[in-house]
Amino acid sequence: MGVPPLDRSTIWPYVDGEPGEFYYSRYGNPTQAAAEAALGELEGGEAVLFSSGTGAATAVVLAFLAPGSTIALAEGAYYGTSTLFHELARWGLRHVEFDQRGEPPADADLIWLEAPSNPFLTMPDLEAAARHAAPVLVDATAATPVYLRPLARGADYVLHSATKFLTGHHDVLLGAVACAKPDDAARLRETRGRTGITASPESAWLLHRGLHTLEPRMRRHTESAAEIAERLEGHDAVERVRYPGFGGLLSFDVAGGAEAARRVETSTRRIANATSLGGVASTLETRRRWEGDRVPENLIRLSVGLEPLEALWDDLKRALTR
Ligand code: PLP
Repeated sequence: MGVPPLDRSTIWPYVDGEPGEFYYSRYGNPTQAAAEAALGELEGGEAVLFSSGTGAATAVVLAFLAPGSTIALAEGAYYGTSTLFHELARWGLRHVEFDQRGEPPADADLIWLEAPSNPFLTMPDLEAAARHAAPVLVDATAATPVYLRPLARGADYVLHSATKFLTGHHDVLLGAVACAKPDDAARLRETRGRTGITASPESAWLLHRGLHTLEPRMRRHTESAAEIAERLEGHDAVERVRYPGFGGLLSFDVAGGAEAARRVETSTRRIANATSLGGVASTLETRRRWEGDRVPENLIRLSVGLEPLEALWDDLKRALTR
């Protein structure tokens, strides 16, 4: 029921002169394995942990693709994912962006969806992607298995920045991939061991503990975010709200352009003007500083935490009317 004790060891003695299940922590450790089993159960697949969500994405590319391969990437997905693929272009990786609400392009070796996308909050057409001959990966960081289990909908891989909702407290950097096929998970573990993109036992332990509260946290994130999205819709200083109807992540455009948006993000007191998302503490920021022209200059991304709803709304309302 509880979480097994944290084991920080890097080595474990051989058994009868041979390596046992655990022998050197880069290849696997019991704390990580226990957390992987818990996450795998939630996803309905076999989970593999990595040092970050970006580390997990790097491992997927290295394990399953080759120079000349093409990834069809959801347009407007997490900016860092396309930055990573641009970086790997020097190693022969190609990627094309497409509108994930429709059919993926024919010429692709891997379909990379994001549910919902960060910060545009679109949802993919999973059925259209599953009809494609190429394997399908869904980055379900913002949905979590509480709202979406892509492996049951025909996806081959689910990726998480476990840094976000899965651990949930802005104190862990961690990534995960859950695979439908055990052979794929074995290949990812092999890549992880060879490249060293391994999760720390501390991070794995915190994930395991955090999974016990995932569902009630997500329900509460949703209750508050849905209410805030509705109130923002009705606010004169807001031009547009994007919210998929579940989870704690939303984005909105402030009337008055970049300056007005900057005033809002620097005026909240309770909600931190900080990057990242998915924590018990709310965060907000304009995204233009990171993503450039691909996002509106007045777009603010808001991750609604678990603080009292009215305290969050008072904070936002005051910032919007300053
Ligand atoms: N995927 C999504 C949807 C994200 O929001 C992020 C980080 O913001 C990542 C992947 C990358 O995860 P990490 O920061 O843990 O490397």
